[in-house]
Formats: sequence, structure tokens, C-alpha cells
Amino acid sequence: MILLQGKGVSKGVASGPIYFFQRPSTDITKTAVADIAAEKERIAAAQEKSMAQLEALADKAREETGEETAVLFETHAMFVEDEDYVEAIMTTLDEERCCAEYAVQQAGEQFAAMFAATDDAYMQARAADVKDVTRRILNNLMGIAEGGIDSDVPVILAADDLAPSETLQLDKSKILGFITAGGSGNSHTAILARTMGIPAICGLGDTLKQEYAGRDGYIDGETGQISIDPDEITLAAFRTKEKKQAEMKELLQSMKGQKDVTLDGREMMVYCNIGSPEDVAAVQANDGQGIGLFRSEFLYLAANDYPSEEDQFQAYKTVAAAMNGKRVVIRTLDIGADKQVEYFHLQKEENPAMGVRAIRICLNRPEVFRTQLRALYRASAYGKVAIMFPMITSVWEVKECKRACKKVMAELDAEGIPYNKDTELGIMIETPASVFVADALAKEVDFFSVGTNDLTQYTLACDRQANDLGKFFDPHHPAVLRALKMATDAAHAAGIWIGICGELGADLTLLETFLAIGIDELSVSPSSVLPLRAEIRKSIAKTCNLDMLKS
Ligand code: PEP
Ligand code: MG
Repeated sequence: MILLQGKGVSKGVASGPIYFFQRPSTDITKTAVADIAAEKERIAAAQEKSMAQLEALADKAREETGEETAVLFETHAMFVEDEDYVEAIMTTLDEERCCAEYAVQQAGEQFAAMFAATDDAYMQARAADVKDVTRRILNNLMGIAEGGIDSDVPVILAADDLAPSETLQLDKSKILGFITAGGSGNSHTAILARTMGIPAICGLGDTLKQEYAGRDGYIDGETGQISIDPDEITLAAFRTKEKKQAEMKELLQSMKGQKDVTLDGREMMVYCNIGSPEDVAAVQANDGQGIGLFRSEFLYLAANDYPSEEDQFQAYKTVAAAMNGKRVVIRTLDIGADKQVEYFHLQKEENPAMGVRAIRICLNRPEVFRTQLRALYRASAYGKVAIMFPMITSVWEVKECKRACKKVMAELDAEGIPYNKDTELGIMIETPASVFVADALAKEVDFFSVGTNDLTQYTLACDRQANDLGKFFDPHHPAVLRALKMATDAAHAAGIWIGICGELGADLTLLETFLAIGIDELSVSPSSVLPLRAEIRKSIAKTCNLDMLKS
């Protein structure tokens, strides 16, 4: 038996074979090859496999997301066989007598550069398609599985680390748990694991070894412990915990349909955080009363090119309609920092968390912002949509956002497209600056939602991505809790509601403090709704105190 100790970042126990995530290699070396005919056969087989995958993806997209995405995959399939592209590959092979991988990569780079150099914006955007098709053919040449997992059975997925975009593209039905060498509890990958309700452990460092691949892993996302090929005693302890977990789940079912109200009648709205329309099923299964944070950027991260207005509209509309009149807070694009999207071509920054991210990108790129706002307002006709702006530091930013909204509303009016004129507008309180000017900000918007992940990072000057800051990264720090109180007082003075959508919202040890501060809403991962409800229903708001705010 081997025991590993990491940091549990998403609760729950799981067991299954350990499988290492397959990441496509980007550094392909040019290798001389004698048998060029064999390389051509390899390319033909990879093309055939790529075509079959793209046709299947087009069929799936047609069923699930609509015609536009389906056409995209069909276009990719056509490109796999494009005469000029294939000729470029063959010419490199014949002239340079090199391996198939090198020839494909060269052709991909050549065509992507050619498209990028055109004057036409549509053709420029095709560079991303060429890169995507080339990546697919290369993966098939190198035997790298689509979605990073080539297994018939679900697995415990091991990796050095996973970027949010990689996590999003995984086939979730194949994952029992995540274990990673790097990562931190506040990274978006950990957040995604919690949203999906999948146990996860990070920070294993070099104790996580490739040689464990295929062995039976038993993971506990609460304690951060992993046993590989456990002995009988360890296995029995694991089974007991598994049973307890199932019993607890069963017990919590009785919370469904109950109100989120304390014993003395104080209501707390308990909403959910989601990253895609598929997550709504978990919200409903856990009886979430609304959606307090839809991280819209995950739509951008999962795509290979800017999602169109229509694609976004369909996604927002699906969520709004499925929630059937319950509030759905959709946050506008929050990329940058750890959420990198290749086709945005963001500048490399020394300190990306403090660079051009989130609302700064939207205000710098009005066309990107306009497309998203149009999709959001159009979706507002199908449910109770609220729009939220991230990373706000100044009142002028909010005024600019509101101007962009007004412009979009005027466009929709002119086009006769229905939307809700009273769509709520809110901001995230996640920078110290927004706390200090919360009184002025509160006069501009309908609600605040505190992003405690970033608020902790910026207040304590602690990188949320780093896993070695230990006790210095302390979301319970009185400075963070006092910031919450200041923002809440400002919100209530202006007559608006305030919630928490950062991970701290699900911290049951702080529930009484949140009640004492006067927080109106907690937005948490779907699996945290029922445990939170059970705790709220046991609490007495009027006896809660602010002791935690004392230093
Ligand atoms: C936060 O910062 O707390 C938040 C909810 O946003 P994100 O984690 O996506 O940055
Ligand atoms: Mg944030």
C-alpha cells in the first residue's frame, strides 16, 4: 500500500484506477524517416479518425446546441481533407523526408499564418480553426485521446496540473476524482471540481508518480489522503466513510423543498454557482433557489473561437428558461489571470492577476462586450436574468458598463427584439478598492456579490493560485470579514441586496458571522446547497455575533 497526502479541495470519497491525463505535446521534433509511404499511411489514418470524430461532434452539437456549432465542426471536417492543406503536408514529407507529425505541424502553422495575415476579420478568425484541426490530426497521429482520457471505465484522473480550459473539455462521465501535483484550493480547476461535485486533491508535488498509473486509487477529498492498493484495514476505513457519505446524502434529501430560513425567521437566499448550462441539472437536483453566479467565461474557455451572439444567447436562454423564473445572475466575461483563452491573444503579463482581466478586457474591447450584452439581454426575455460585472474598482467603470447596456437595449428596441427592460445590474465586490467606494457603487447598481476568492487574494496580497502560502492565505482573516461588513453596510444603506459567490459562502463555520453581518444571499456549488440549508435552519440569527471580525 502507498499513502499520499495532499490538500483536499473538493469533498467526497472515490475509488478507481489511476489514469494520467494525456496532454498533446506542442514541441514536435523533426525526425528523419526512410519509409515515407508508411508516414503517408499514418497521416491517412489520422485524417480518417479526425473526420469520424468531427462528424460525431457535429451530430452531437446539432442535437444539443444547435445548427451553428454543428456547422463549425462540419467546416473543420472539410478542412481535414482540404486539397491545398493536404498537398502542403505531402510536399513537406516528400521534400524533407521527415516524420508525419512535423509535416502536419508545418502545414498547420503555414495555413494559420496565411489566414491571420489577411485583411478580412472573418478569414483572420479562421486561423484558430486551422490550428484546431491541426491539433486534432496531431493528437490522432500521436495516439492522444480526445478530451485527455482514453479509458473505457471511469478513472481517478491524475495530472501535474490542469488548466481550467482543459478541465472543461474533459469527458466528465469518465472522471471519479482528480489528483494533481500542483494547484490550489482557490484555483478555477478546484472550483470546477466542486461545481461538478467530483472529489479532488491537489498539491501532491512529486509524490504523485507516473508509475502509479493503472493502480487502484482510493481518494478522500476532505482529508486529502490517497491510498494506492490499500491494505485491508485502510480499505475498511474507506468503505465506512463511503457508507457515511451515502447516508449523509440520503439524510440531506429531507432538506429539499424546505425554506432557507433560520429558527427566528431570517431568510437567506441560497443560490448556486455554475459554469455551463449542463450544471443546471445539479442545481435542480439539489434544490438551489437560483443561480448566483454563472461564470460565462467558461463558454469562451471551452470554445476554440469567439462564441457568437447566437451561441451565447442559446446558452443563457437555456439556463434562464430552465430556472423557471428563479433569479439567474450571469457574470460577464472574466478571463485573464489563470483563465487564458488563446484566441484572445492577451499580452503576456508579469502579474496577470493584476493585469488586463475581466471587465478591463470588456471595456477595452467594446465589440466583444457588445456581443455578450446583446446575448444576455435577449435571454432576459426567457427568465429572471441579472447581469453582473466582475473586477470592478471604480465608479466610472460601472457607468461605462451601464452605457454599454443602454446602447444594446436601444439596438434591440430598434430591431424589435424582446428583452426585459428591468434586468437587474450588479457588480462583484472583489477588490479592496470596490469595498472602499462601496457607498458610491451601491448607488449605481441593483446588487453586490462578493467574490471572496479574489477579495482574499487582493486584500491579503496572497496569490490564490499558489499552494504554498499556507496560513498566510487566510479567508477568515478579520480584514476580509470586515471588508464584507463594510460592503454589506453600504449595500443596505442604499437599499440593495448583497451576496457572496466566492468559495467562502459554503464555509459552514462562517455561517453565523455571515448572518451577523447581514449577508442576504450565499451562492455555492450545487452539492453545498443542502448542507448549508440544514445549517441555516438550525441557526438563530439574532444571537449571531461579529466576534470573528475582531483581530
Ligand atoms: C471570486 O473571486 O470569489 C469569484 C467568485 O470569482 P472567480 O473565482 O471566478 O474569480
Ligand atoms: Mg473573482
